[in-house]
Parts: sequence; C-alpha cells; structure tokens
Amino acid sequence: MPDALLDLLLGSRCTVCARPGRVLCRACELALPRRPAPAWPTPSPAGLAPPLAVGEYAGALKLLVNAHKEERRFALARPLGDLLSAAVEAHGGPPSDVPLVLVPVPSRGAVVRQRGHDPLLRVVARAAACLRAHGRPAHVARVLRVLRRTEDQAGLGAARRAGNLAGSMGCARIAGPWLAARAAQGDRGHRVVVVDDVITTGATVREAQRALEEAGVAVHGIATVAATRRRSGPTSGDRVPDYRFGARPTSV
Ligand SMILES: [Zn+2]
Repeated sequence: MPDALLDLLLGSRCTVCARPGRVLCRACELALPRRPAPAWPTPSPAGLAPPLAVGEYAGALKLLVNAHKEERRFALARPLGDLLSAAVEAHGGPPSDVPLVLVPVPSRGAVVRQRGHDPLLRVVARAAACLRAHGRPAHVARVLRVLRRTEDQAGLGAARRAGNLAGSMGCARIAGPWLAARAAQGDRGHRVVVVDDVITTGATVREAQRALEEAGVAVHGIATVAATRRRSGPTSGDRVPDYRFGARPTSV
C-alpha cells in the first residue's frame, strides 16, 4: 500500500497547516519555494563546489524535512525529492543527455538503525526518479561511507564542524574509480552532484566532496533541499556563519 494512502487511512494531517487529509495539502505544496538559488554559507569552506538550494531552512521546508526525518512521515519523500531534483537539475545545464549522478552524504549506521530508516536516501531516490521522468538521465551512487565516529554537529561552529568531520568519510574502493572515469570525460562526462537535505556551515558536504576528490571523482556541485540562515551570535568559540540565501561566496 502506498505510504500516502496509508497516511490518509490512518487519519493524517497536512504537515504545514494541519488540515486533515494528505501529509501535504495541495495549497501548501503549491506555496513551496521551487527556484534553486546559490546557497553559499558565510563563511564558506575553502574550495566548496557551488551549492544550490530551493529555499531557506525555515517555515514549511523546515517542518517537512523534520517530519519526514523524525516522525517517519514517509510520504513526504515525494515533495522533498521533487524539490531536491530542481536543485540537482539546475547543475545539469546542456547537453541535457549528460547523466547526473546524485551522491548522498552518508549517514552513520547507528543513526539509521535508531531512526529505523534512512530519510535522505528516500528523498534522493525520489529526486533521481523525478529527473528521469523529465527526460534527464540520473542515478544515485551510494559510494560514500562514514569511516569513523564524529561528535554531533549541532551546536558546533563552522571551524569546529570542519575539524570534527575532516577525514571522516571515504569513497568505496571499486565504485570510486568507475565514477571517476565517467566524471572525467569533460562536457560529455557524468556530472557528479553531492546531495543532502540541509546545508548549514557546508562542512558536511565539503567533507563528502573531499572524499570523492580523494578518489579522483570530480564534483560538479552541491544540491540541497534547504539552506540554514543563522541569526544567533557566536557559540562554542567559533564564528557562527551568517547564511544569506543567494549571497556571493565568501571563503574562509
Ligand atoms: Zn496544508
């Protein structure tokens, strides 16, 4: 039985406006931001591939991301995946027959077991399906692995996040060279895009990019559903990035 039908039968409500019915009502879905825009964190990790996101991590987008991740509202993978596909597609450019490869940021096994599902993978699979439905060759390559435990990123500033994550991810030994060869064919090669649900300081996606580049895989860009705008003052001795949606890059 499809998740959406199950939610409806079990008495679901719209995640955004709480109206009884679908997990996301038509009106709230139509009101979601859809235009991908540059999402450079301020400051940005040095060398970060161009990040695109469809909206700010606030309001409806924040509710959707969290309800899907924490409340297991699986039917939300569809609208979230559709939004992510727009950010990935914006990295596509011509020629339109060049395959887009979506590489999800890896989740720690313990976190996936605790949640009972891997929310990002659902969203990424939907995004790739959505791209293919629009005639764009796209596939998901789960080539990144978490190599070691890291501290919880929440509450850490940009510099400490980067240090916490440095060297924490690795690229699969067999899939890496395969992907590297396909990404190295210039304009005709596969376009590799690192994908995540939210970009905050950029440290996580930068580490994913580093692990891919270490395996020889050229990263074309970063795509996320949402991007965090920080309003609070400094914490943990680090300068908290001031995310401005669509702002120009400012490297550290
Ligand atoms: Zn609604």
